[in-house]
Amino acid sequence: MKNPAAAIVLTVSLAATIPATAQDSLRVLHCGALIDGVSESVAADVFVVVEGDRIVSVADSAPEGAEVVDLSDATCLPGMVDAHSHPLIQTDSYQIDHLRDSSATKALKGLAAVQANLHEGWTTLRIAGDADVYYAHLDIGRAIDAGTFLGPRITGAGHYMSVTGGGGDMSQIAPEQYVVADGLVVDGVAEVQKAVREEIKYGSDWIKLLVTGAFMSTSDSPQNVQFSPEELQAAVDEASRRNRPVMAHAHATAGIKMAIAAGVRSIEHGTFMDAEAMDMMLAADIWWVPTVYIGRYYLEEGSDAEDLEKMIELSRLYQVDSEERISEGIRRGVKIAIGSDFGGYLQKRNVREVEMMVELGMTPMQAIQAATIVGAELLGWEDRIGSIENGKLADIIAVGGDPLTDIQALRNVRFVMVGGQVARGH
Ligand SMILES: [Zn+2]
Repeated sequence: MKNPAAAIVLTVSLAATIPATAQDSLRVLHCGALIDGVSESVAADVFVVVEGDRIVSVADSAPEGAEVVDLSDATCLPGMVDAHSHPLIQTDSYQIDHLRDSSATKALKGLAAVQANLHEGWTTLRIAGDADVYYAHLDIGRAIDAGTFLGPRITGAGHYMSVTGGGGDMSQIAPEQYVVADGLVVDGVAEVQKAVREEIKYGSDWIKLLVTGAFMSTSDSPQNVQFSPEELQAAVDEASRRNRPVMAHAHATAGIKMAIAAGVRSIEHGTFMDAEAMDMMLAADIWWVPTVYIGRYYLEEGSDAEDLEKMIELSRLYQVDSEERISEGIRRGVKIAIGSDFGGYLQKRNVREVEMMVELGMTPMQAIQAATIVGAELLGWEDRIGSIENGKLADIIAVGGDPLTDIQALRNVRFVMVGGQVARGH
């Protein structure tokens, strides 16, 4: 320790920002019903005992004299994991608007966005790269971890990484204009390696690669593979040398297969996933984050943004097919986690992704598990979050009604606790 005095000051100031009540008091949640994230059955009239930030018991009565939060008319379930989020994206014209707001402004807006996510029951977010030259959302995560603000757990990638002209580049700008793109633009093995190293240096837990073209960017096609096999392999190798998993944005079938073969941990979107790719995913034991509802959203709601004309047109062409492929993935037992792909301005809609999974063939219990324990497993955090069990972090929500008979009950969030701190209700 070079400067013990500085360390002491830091410790004192952090302790002052964490409410004393969260540190050591026992709190009991009396749940009318409990879906714990791992059992297939529902328990009735359950008392979840929380001490500090942890669940210490799940019992059929409350300990003597403990403070009880009455959720006896609600269903408790684990806090949900949105495994594909972009809180710093604030408008449909995100690539242009990325040039208007400073990183600090994006951090402030992003903080409000992730707190709104938390209010709706999303206690963990995996950021799939975000529209900021710097690393504002990683700063938001650090401020939350330090107890400066109450918010969801945040993990993920600093930026989406693509080739020149790819989804992370800004192809709508005249060639003589120098702009810094919202994503990282890398070409060749050496640039890929350097970018991966920089992402990790500045705090990325994940590396996000745009392996194919995208729906929501100008001039590239989701049916084209963009990275060469050498670039893709270099990125995965570089990330795995530093124990960072890779999430691969991949629409085109060939890109999905290349990414699986290279050793990524999750396929994002997977629009043109075929049966062979599903078998490869099962063999590799990796996750699919389909982000299917956002296509429906833009088809239903439309957008005036020039940036989204292509997205809406492609959704018109491919949404139905892509939904059928997800149904097939569910039938085949591919591991599917919930990711909204929403920017920070589309609040209260993320839960539609869970509802879509039921529409596409999951049972409500499977869809809830996709939003909880399966998401936790994708993050490698299943020992900490994703279920309501002894020893886990107390990330617990309660909803009115029974989500197993009507999955839309998840819209009716009444109570949210993250790490033992109450973020909503009571
Ligand atoms: Zn995305």
